[in-house]
Amino acid sequence: MDASSPATTNLELVTIGTELLLGFTVDTNSAHIGRVLSDRGIRITRRTAVSDDPAAIRDAIGAALARTGAVLTTGGLGPTRDDISRQVVAELLEMPLVFDESVWQALVQRFARLGRVPAETNRSQAMVPTGGTILSNRWGSAPGLWLESPRGLVIMLPGVPVEMRKLLEHEVAPRLADRSTGLVIRSATLRTTGVAESTLAERIGSLEDDLAPLGLAYLPGTAGVDLRLTAWQLPPGEADTRLREGVDRLGAVVGPCAYGEDEADLAAVLLDQLRAKGLHLAVAESCTGGLVAGRLTEIPGSSDVFLGGVVAYANQAKIDLLQVPPEVIVRQGAVSAETAEAMVRGVQARFGAEVAIAVTGIAGPDGGTPEKPVGTVWFAFAIGERVESVLGRFVGSRSEIRARAAQTALFGMLGRARGDRSP
Ligand code: AMP
Ligand code: MG
Repeated sequence: MDASSPATTNLELVTIGTELLLGFTVDTNSAHIGRVLSDRGIRITRRTAVSDDPAAIRDAIGAALARTGAVLTTGGLGPTRDDISRQVVAELLEMPLVFDESVWQALVQRFARLGRVPAETNRSQAMVPTGGTILSNRWGSAPGLWLESPRGLVIMLPGVPVEMRKLLEHEVAPRLADRSTGLVIRSATLRTTGVAESTLAERIGSLEDDLAPLGLAYLPGTAGVDLRLTAWQLPPGEADTRLREGVDRLGAVVGPCAYGEDEADLAAVLLDQLRAKGLHLAVAESCTGGLVAGRLTEIPGSSDVFLGGVVAYANQAKIDLLQVPPEVIVRQGAVSAETAEAMVRGVQARFGAEVAIAVTGIAGPDGGTPEKPVGTVWFAFAIGERVESVLGRFVGSRSEIRARAAQTALFGMLGRARGDRSP
């Protein structure tokens, strides 16, 4: 850190664009910037989204500077009339815009490579606040700006996500690193499924206090509950060591419902487990309509384990394609342990697979009865000769029930393949 650049560990974000407030564009920029900068020891203390309105932009950036002294903006650097961020900031910081020939030449060359010439409106993109530093954009037309003024630091990036990411990585993060205290904010996640948040909280109990200074967050979703540990403002090495230790300790108390870390996908974890045991998998799906097969084939290289599946939605398809005896469907119903077991045997035989999964249930919103309400799903798992059926009950919309059923199917197979007693 040199004397002319004060420590700037805190930063506010201002995302600019009317489309963000209308909800047509999801503000992915903020999420990305938060992750990248917190990992580098810069803390985002506040985020504000504003429309392409000069007063709103001026107020948001002015207030952020007054509070924090450092602001990063995205959006509003394009060539069109609504792109006014540059103008507003130049006035706010009293750094009048001047035409920059080098930015203009870079633009002309970029257009020439595309066989075009820039329009007159593109000239606005070559206007730079006096005394500002240009962050050259090799990935698009609008350069970023790094503006230091008596009111504080304003960093301006274009809104287009790929350009913003490249500029953040190559131009902004290295410059901010000089100002960082070297303490980082880092997270690690333990992914669980098939267990309620409250049950997890009971199992974890007082371990949460022992994990300090790491923070613990419960993040429930359709796929399960993610347990996210966060190290706040620690040296990178210490953060990584504590997180590793924290995840291991959490895993030990949480048990087999934990299936992976960070971005781990349950389908990939299952495929790895089956691959390690030399097993091949087939699936028979009714209410999930191919979601389980979809999850498996989403994973590159799954073909050495996953042989294929049958979507047997109508009763006749269960009979014709999976050899489910018609009387089983008549007596027990299509959503029953007996039907699921017959489906799993049928698909196992058809594909010659050592292991197989079957799913049959009522995804709703209609079709429920008092005995079999919407969300009732029967699963059957075959491992060699052994067949086991399990009843699941799910709540939520049709798509949530289907997604949860697919996740439960994968998890049920994983537990049996790992040899857990009850997943
Ligand atoms: P702009 O730099 O304002 O011309 O933005 C160009 C495009 O980038 C917009 O049309 C949006 O599609 C996209 N964009 C702008 N801001 C964001 C943001 N915060 N998150 C994701 N995309 C954005
Ligand atoms: Mg815009």
